[in-house]
Amino acid sequence: MKTKYEVDPDGCTGCGGCAALCPVSAIEVDAILATITDECIGCGICADFCPVSVIDRRKS
Ligand code: SF4
Ligand code: SF4
Repeated sequence: MKTKYEVDPDGCTGCGGCAALCPVSAIEVDAILATITDECIGCGICADFCPVSVIDRRKS
């Protein structure tokens, strides 16, 4: 299984760009924060895009 990704809540601006790019719609965004769900397939597209680099592989 691929390693999934998570968002560091301290830096996310809620821009929504990551959610727009996710191929499996695994990112939910409210006004200030993106959250990655268990639907994530670990492709890394969101992490490559994030303008403030707050998406990374889960540590566990
Ligand atoms: S691209 Fe980055 S800053 Fe924008 S909503 Fe996603 S995690 Fe937050
Ligand atoms: S790593 Fe890929 S599948 Fe997982 S949340 Fe980011 S864009 Fe979506």
